[in-house]
Amino acid sequence: MKTTQNSSGDVRLTGIGKTYGSFTAVHPLDLTVPEGSFFALLGASGCGKTTTLRMIAGLEEPSRGTVSLGDQDVTHLPPYKRPVNTVFQSYALFPHLDIFENVAFGLRRRGLKSVKKQVDEMLDLVQLGEQARKKPHQLSGGQQQRVAVARALINHPKVLLLDEPLGALDLKLRRQMQLELKRIQTEVGITFIHVTHDQEEAMTMADTVAVMNGGRVEQLGSPADLYENPKTTFVANFLGTSNLIEAEVDSRSGEEIVLKAGDGKLVLPEARCAAPATTGGKVLVGIRPEKITLTHADDAGEIPVGRNRITGKIAATSFIGVSTQYVIDSSVCPEFEVYVQNIDRDARLVPGAEVVLHWSPAHTFGLDATQS
Ligand code: ATP
Repeated sequence: MKTTQNSSGDVRLTGIGKTYGSFTAVHPLDLTVPEGSFFALLGASGCGKTTTLRMIAGLEEPSRGTVSLGDQDVTHLPPYKRPVNTVFQSYALFPHLDIFENVAFGLRRRGLKSVKKQVDEMLDLVQLGEQARKKPHQLSGGQQQRVAVARALINHPKVLLLDEPLGALDLKLRRQMQLELKRIQTEVGITFIHVTHDQEEAMTMADTVAVMNGGRVEQLGSPADLYENPKTTFVANFLGTSNLIEAEVDSRSGEEIVLKAGDGKLVLPEARCAAPATTGGKVLVGIRPEKITLTHADDAGEIPVGRNRITGKIAATSFIGVSTQYVIDSSVCPEFEVYVQNIDRDARLVPGAEVVLHWSPAHTFGLDATQS
């Protein structure tokens, strides 16, 4: 978490928390969202992400801590006095106004008379210039959501808050809108803070993701960093699929940790281990399914024994488009998942086949085995 001095437009939460009676929805947390970034609050239902967003918006009074925007402490300002705007899942457009007037609404409320240039620019930004005279019900869900974004941006907020804005859209439209929102954010350059429970959505759009669990930020980082270097089992399982093998620490060289798992030996770079790893202690060794090489046992003679080489038997296979998913039964992990690109697929890899799994230490991560 950043503790550097607040630059002109960073959003900074300091010790912010929220309790409802005896229930803690958000434990005190410190978080800095850099100005101009696309930031995602990601987590399962009930983890406190919306409450956190609402405290930034001013829609929820924090029980403790402060919210500041640049040098300004906005903790006790009402929502309309904060330089932020929010887009909700329910687009909340005015049904009786056309698209132009929906977008113009914020300007007219401020008493501006000549709004055309600004509204046209905003409609162009969200690629709805042609639809200006339609009513909301004449637009698709994705188009309505873009109107909501244009309406929220017209007053040039410093920060746009998005609360599950794509939640009502079907999967294909959702994917299109993710790219569209990312493009809009890059074009306008203001800070977007996006709440979602969809890990793929957060990974596609955000520069930085805060993974929340039980009212706490469990890990903060770039999508690639969270995926490659999860620090907890929750993050390892919430972002994609992880194979987690309980292994015993055998020795440490300063650079590598060697571990025993069944009759196999695993190797883990010290720098990629988030667990204490005392000799004789347990570590959960993690490996992503697509990082594993799957070889028929008849061809595995040259794969070195003792360095992330596990034997097993194929229990099940399923075709998932660009790759095939294999479930492997092995002594170290009963349901080992492996994804193999279809172009690399070996026709002999069918249920019952004896196989060897092998992967590089560089792709291995270590987690605390005492965590839930
Ligand atoms: P979702 O994705 O389902 O919206 P979330 O991660 O956004 O979930 P929050 O809406 O922030 O979660 O809620 C966090 C917790 O606080 C939940 O357990 C919720 O039931 C509780 N909560 C939220 N608002 C209130 C309230 N006004 N009174 C009591 N409890 C509340």
